[in-house]
Amino acid sequence: MSTWHEYVQRKGNLPEWPYPIHYGKVKEVVSDVLVIGAGVAGCRAAIAAARAGAMVAVMERGHAKRSGCGGAGVDHWHGAVTNPCSKVTPEMYTKACYDSMHGYTGAHVRYIINKEGWDTLLECEQMGIQIRDVHDEFKGADFRDEETKLMFAYDYQNRHVIRVWGFDIKPKLYAEMQRLGVDVHNRMATTSLLTEGGKQGARVVGATAVDARTGEFCVFRAKATIIATGGAARLALFAPEITAASSMADMNSAGVGQAIGWNAGAEFVCMEASGHNRLSGFGYTPYSMGGTSNTYHGAPIVDVEGKEVPWVDTFGRPLNTVLQRFLPAEGQQFILGIGIGITNYLREYNQDDLTRDLVERIRKGEFKLPLYADLTRLPETERRAIFGMMVGNEGKTRIPI
Ligand SMILES: Cc1cc2nc3c(=O)[nH]c(=O)nc-3n(C[C@H](O)[C@H](O)[C@H](O)COP(=O)(O)OP(=O)(O)OC[C@H]3O[C@@H](n4cnc5c(N)ncnc54)[C@H](O)[C@@H]3O)c2cc1C
Repeated sequence: MSTWHEYVQRKGNLPEWPYPIHYGKVKEVVSDVLVIGAGVAGCRAAIAAARAGAMVAVMERGHAKRSGCGGAGVDHWHGAVTNPCSKVTPEMYTKACYDSMHGYTGAHVRYIINKEGWDTLLECEQMGIQIRDVHDEFKGADFRDEETKLMFAYDYQNRHVIRVWGFDIKPKLYAEMQRLGVDVHNRMATTSLLTEGGKQGARVVGATAVDARTGEFCVFRAKATIIATGGAARLALFAPEITAASSMADMNSAGVGQAIGWNAGAEFVCMEASGHNRLSGFGYTPYSMGGTSNTYHGAPIVDVEGKEVPWVDTFGRPLNTVLQRFLPAEGQQFILGIGIGITNYLREYNQDDLTRDLVERIRKGEFKLPLYADLTRLPETERRAIFGMMVGNEGKTRIPI
């Protein structure tokens, strides 16, 4: 194995292009529904349309089997509020999101997600994705329901976020699309939407794309077109090789999906709530390292000398046990859980975290950098759930972990 640079230096020239060149050729694809972008959302849209009897075409820049943010897997499923153990209703959950964002969120979209999230998860189970502790690996754990074998994250009392074994979510969605006869076109980079009469703002009647391998131009004609190209991390962060980046969106996406919509005359909403991307240390913890956020919620954090940083509840009151980090604090309705596109949690729904004056205390010398997540200090089932199960199911790879 060598890098591209090493290869060119060694050989003295560029490698030959391994695919046939079809510049100047035009391919036409006709369908009822065209989905642009086959991440989790695009695949799900294609499956739903095909199940409803539509003829569906999908165009994907990478390969739909592993492309997009879900390609590496998923370890917990938010908003499954209608699961049999949940104490939260879709109305409660939607209100919590809406209030936390001070109205700058699509409450109707959140409501639909909450109403249907559990049903969608059951569909995933039918496709072969493991959503329960079927091998009884976590029997008796605080976060497990013994009857349904479901396992919960963040809020063990209200039980609306479910831990899942989702490393294969994309291959399973891909297989389902194939089973349903969805016409998938991989390695297609979309260039623009087609509108009726070529007029901006007129009805969309398809899209155009270039085959990234052959250079062939493709015209997709469809009665309905869905853009599902995901978030665009490259708009805020320019170097996808920064592995410590903690973006929840695709580091390779510079927003072509958004741009084709804009050029065709789409109206954009809730732009005020667009989230920026963050580097590690300034927010979300990346998956390759420990922290207190997301998958690692509840993990003990120690300084370089092994001194443990205290956890506090959402109102700043100290917490003494690990279990308390997964239960609503006194005066709190339920914990929403991080990772659902909320940038400003109301305390009423916020999760516990490290003491808020940590930065000051580091500056004063009470804690010495660097900090580490010390999972050995967790109760055994929690440790296995975070490190053995969750990190492996959504990390970049299951093997080194
Ligand atoms: C490391 C990581 C862990 C995560 N863990 C969880 C979790 O545990 N639980 C959870 O609920 N969420 C999690 N998320 C978030 C979740 O994975 C994403 O919100 C979700 O996968 C987004 O799906 P999407 O289909 O909307 O977008 P994407 O996954 O970004 O898919 C967009 C697709 O469009 C394609 N595309 C882009 N531009 C073009 C173009 N111009 N032409 C053609 N195709 C194009 C891309 O190749 C891609 O396949 C995680 C995200 C990351 C990055």
